[in-house]
Amino acid sequence: MSSANPSAADIPFPRIHKPTSCRTNPELFVHEYEERGYQVAQRIAAAQAQCAVCPIAPQCLKWALAHPEETPTGIWAGTTARQRTVLRSRLIARLGPDWITIVATVDRARRERVLAARHQPPTVSQARLAHPDREYKRRDNRGPRRLLAAHARGPEPPAPGVRSRAAVAEEVY
Ligand code: SF4
Repeated sequence: MSSANPSAADIPFPRIHKPTSCRTNPELFVHEYEERGYQVAQRIAAAQAQCAVCPIAPQCLKWALAHPEETPTGIWAGTTARQRTVLRSRLIARLGPDWITIVATVDRARRERVLAARHQPPTVSQARLAHPDREYKRRDNRGPRRLLAAHARGPEPPAPGVRSRAAVAEEVY
């Protein structure tokens, strides 16, 4: 079934090599809009637990939100139809009615960056950034002790103006 928004085609269902729980146990993910009750809640919780460990859950959620005609019922990425309706309203409020295009554009840019990184090896300074532990050792021969102390202190707060991953995720959904 094609979606009403042409940009929705730019948010495809993610590929995965092994079958997901919703493929191997589809009955668990069935949920009609008006279904209620203790057993239904138990089933939803079990489906949500499977989605919580699914490696493609973030992209699955974007796909489900961008394709309401294909996901009018059921549990998708741990959400019920009612929850997806709320999430869509929030995205419209935050990004405007063209939110699918915005999300698709951000996703495409991210995919292109990943693809470019595959074709273009990191520079020496980028490689150093990927190994901050070596940088510690290079600057200070007490490296391991310093690393342990830094570990004990916990993560550094983000620099002013730099958003944490959690904040960015919060902004998208
Ligand atoms: S996150 Fe999506 S693909 Fe993964 S199990 Fe849940 S519904 Fe299936």
